[in-house]
Amino acid sequence: MKQLVLIKYGEIILKGLNRPFFEEALVKNIKDALPKDFHGTVHRAQATIYVEPEDPATIDEIIRRMTKVFGITSVTRAYCLPKDLAGMQKGAAEVLAPVLNQIHSFKVEAKRADKKFPMTSPEICREVGGYLHDAFPHLTVDVNHPEETVMVEVREEYAYVYCGRVKGAGGMPIGSNSKATLLLSGGIDSPVAGYMTAKRGVKLNAVHFFSYPYTGERAKEKVLTLGKILAEYAPRLDVHVVPFTEAQLAIKKYCPPEQLTIIMRRLMMQIAEQVALKTGAKALITGESIGQVASQTVEALTVTNQAVKTLPVFRPVIGMDKEEIVTIARQIGTFETSILPYEDCCTIFTPKHPNTKPKLERILESEQKLDTEKLISDAIAGIEIIRL
Ligand code: ATP
Ligand code: MG
Repeated sequence: MKQLVLIKYGEIILKGLNRPFFEEALVKNIKDALPKDFHGTVHRAQATIYVEPEDPATIDEIIRRMTKVFGITSVTRAYCLPKDLAGMQKGAAEVLAPVLNQIHSFKVEAKRADKKFPMTSPEICREVGGYLHDAFPHLTVDVNHPEETVMVEVREEYAYVYCGRVKGAGGMPIGSNSKATLLLSGGIDSPVAGYMTAKRGVKLNAVHFFSYPYTGERAKEKVLTLGKILAEYAPRLDVHVVPFTEAQLAIKKYCPPEQLTIIMRRLMMQIAEQVALKTGAKALITGESIGQVASQTVEALTVTNQAVKTLPVFRPVIGMDKEEIVTIARQIGTFETSILPYEDCCTIFTPKHPNTKPKLERILESEQKLDTEKLISDAIAGIEIIRL
């Protein structure tokens, strides 16, 4: 029997005249996310996308991949049944037997996209439900809290039957909402911040500040691993690895210890802004959260922000507790990598008594002692771009 993957999407449906633009972006991303050796078809009709592989054995892997494509609200394996009552009844009993044998209660829901079909939705529910009830006498019908809902969708060519919908990642298709540059550290917060922005349809690239030899190859590998996990949601993620040692050493040499972190963060922002402008990104993203560390007091965030000249800085986790950020990190699969104990460039140069209420004038005075322009242009000239 023919099987395929049925994909449903949510918010896009509300898009009015722009809807085709979002739908096309979603179909493109779905095709991109299919296994390289995929053979089959992808098409869209009536707010559903159908992925039909020649080999049904690949369906589980396709479903796994689809749960990481933003814009999708649910994914299911569906069976194509003939469009007549007996065909739907027998077919449903046969293909759903492995599931129905495992559970105790069910209900049937029907959708009739083909309005010419001679039965109404309630009639389909009743007739298919009754048949399944007879065929699996251990089952009870529970319309309020069924263990499984059996769906029957009568469409143009077939009646599709399925149950066990897998929840999708939600959000908007990547690429439907411009592009932004993520400041990606090896920590917990920045991958989550990237994920949250990408979820709204924003394509990502990333910058990572790397202070060799103070931070080693393993620290870089860690960041690239995080990037790879993120790239499953935000494909074609370019990580710009910025050599940052010279800049940090200069700051350490010429600026007061209590200002080190804030000046370093301002420099990071300026370099990231340059990378963003060069690569067509329209915003910066950081994993900053109010009060998390000394450099993230409101005053410190303000002075950091003032280093950015034109772009907005998005901070999706700004109001979240660490615990809430960790929950998302676990859910998206970055947590285990983020907690690996490698040095980050920030931790090495962290002063004992950082200034938690920095004043811009004082910071600018200290920055006078640096050749900021050269530090920035040297760092940018040394960038290594790694595509994930
Ligand atoms: P994270 O915030 O990702 O857990 P962290 O806690 O080590 O990492 P913070 O010191 O909190 O980093 O820095 C705040 C933000 O600055 C990070 O979320 C990240 O966006 C950015 N950042 C810090 N260090 C780096 C780095 N080495 N490369 C790129 N971005 C960085
Ligand atoms: Mg942090």
